[in-house]
Amino acid sequence: MRKTAVISSVIVILIALIAMNRSELVHASASGGPSFAPPLPGPAIAAMQKIDPERIRAHVRFLSHDLLEGRGTGQRGGYIAAEYIATQLVLDGLQPAGENGSYMQKVPMVGVTTLPQTTFSLVTAGGTVRDLKQGSEYAAYDETQQPEADVDSDIVYVGYGIEAPEYSWNDYKGADVKGKVLLMLVNEPPSDDLSFFKARALTYYGRWTYKFEEAARKGAVGALLIHKTDMASYPWEVVRNSNSGEKAYLRLEGTPKLKVASWIHLDVSKALASMAGMDLDKMMADARSRDFRPVTLPIKLKAHMVSKIRTIESNNVMAVLPGSDPKLRSEAVMYTAHYDHLGIRPDMLGDNIYNGANDNATGCGILLEIAHSYSLSAQKPKRSILFVSVTAEEQGLLGSEYLGQHPPVPAARVTLDLNYDDVPPLGAPEEVEVSGAERTTFYPTVQAMANEFRLIIRPDARPEAGHYYRSDHFSLARVGIPAFSINEGVKYKGHDAAWGIQQADEYTGKHYHQPSDEYHPDMDFTGDAAMARFGFALGWEAANAPRLVQWQKADEFEAARLKSEQYPASREGH
Ligand SMILES: [Zn+2]
Repeated sequence: MRKTAVISSVIVILIALIAMNRSELVHASASGGPSFAPPLPGPAIAAMQKIDPERIRAHVRFLSHDLLEGRGTGQRGGYIAAEYIATQLVLDGLQPAGENGSYMQKVPMVGVTTLPQTTFSLVTAGGTVRDLKQGSEYAAYDETQQPEADVDSDIVYVGYGIEAPEYSWNDYKGADVKGKVLLMLVNEPPSDDLSFFKARALTYYGRWTYKFEEAARKGAVGALLIHKTDMASYPWEVVRNSNSGEKAYLRLEGTPKLKVASWIHLDVSKALASMAGMDLDKMMADARSRDFRPVTLPIKLKAHMVSKIRTIESNNVMAVLPGSDPKLRSEAVMYTAHYDHLGIRPDMLGDNIYNGANDNATGCGILLEIAHSYSLSAQKPKRSILFVSVTAEEQGLLGSEYLGQHPPVPAARVTLDLNYDDVPPLGAPEEVEVSGAERTTFYPTVQAMANEFRLIIRPDARPEAGHYYRSDHFSLARVGIPAFSINEGVKYKGHDAAWGIQQADEYTGKHYHQPSDEYHPDMDFTGDAAMARFGFALGWEAANAPRLVQWQKADEFEAARLKSEQYPASREGH
């Protein structure tokens, strides 16, 4: 089923078109928006043309080799992958952007395992006790990373637990919840109004990570998230599986955290409501009102958290191509792709190496090939270009979170982050996904460029699932940097969309996060190269544009951008 020959000749023609007919770029901008000049200069196009699918293949082949042992965070294979990536960046002549003149940024992490000695009980004012079972009834972690912690506090129901000034929504209403345990719903108030929590699309306010963070910011000691399958968009089994065993966290840096960060089963939530003489359905309905006020229940959570704490260390790999403009070189475009995967499971029978060929050796191969092509360009962009391969994505975007908190260039001066994660080697794409780009001032450029590349922009099929918040670009967005991922859609040359969807379903069902996500010689990296060229062109444009890219007015990340501009010094790396 190899179509490489046909596909590559199409690409060659396409590139020739771009190279020969640069005035077309300007034409596209005239119809697509105001900000699409200047077009890529000849040397940049020449460098972009050198992006080679076979070089991407070579990186994927090595990074997903069994010898790399699944590139586990804090495991030997992960360290080898980081050294390989750093070595490639050195060979390209790029400058170190890590700590102490190195290509590495240490990401200090802690592994927390909730031990079976943990106890978790609901206690009424009258002294009735209901002990909950770990795993089947609740799942909890001590985010304060202590071996033992006790909680004996009133439970306060706070509805969705959201404070969102831009939507005039505040479930807390100024209530003092210091030292309390907050009972809350996942997701956000339902809406069909785009200006209210983006209608059906999930905003960050709906994610469970936000709920825990907000509760901690308000001084609470614990949070109980009510699990309801339709509201969470996944069943209890998923909560249970992803909340058993060790969970990794960034080492604490003074941020407030919860002693009890937990989910409770819907049946437990119902029982809890009736112990309080309340009705869960009514409580849920009440939470949908703007007038909702927190309710203190006549019930306490009494928990004794016992945890195993382990230090984990891993590195983000980073290099920089200094900009050519003496003024603008203090600003940067950033490219990111995570190199970590799930590692090796020595206790598992049979193939126990999670090679992570698609996820995310492909993204690393693309990142390295983009870096290589910039290094070959006879003309350099005005702003600097940062290349960062982050660690611990599979642990919950931890490497990129640390990067966002300690960027090598202050966040306010990073104009754009382009991320790559799991770009399937399936042939020549006719679509591109850039979800999140439409929220930035850069979108007209993205549209015009997609047009140039004959790529149709495929919108996010399920914005309610909140995929935007589950990939590394989000870690950069939350510190204000306009950021999105670039990926193929489902329509490939020579196939209909149904074929593409079938390939995606088969991958998700059989290989995603399985040891069988492996390299095969018949993989076709044409599409990965196309995504690399597209990203190269976008990055080049952003690096040379007169202004920095911004979030659209009233976007949920606009406030973070404005804040980063106010205090740029506090964002400096250490
Ligand atoms: Zn991934």
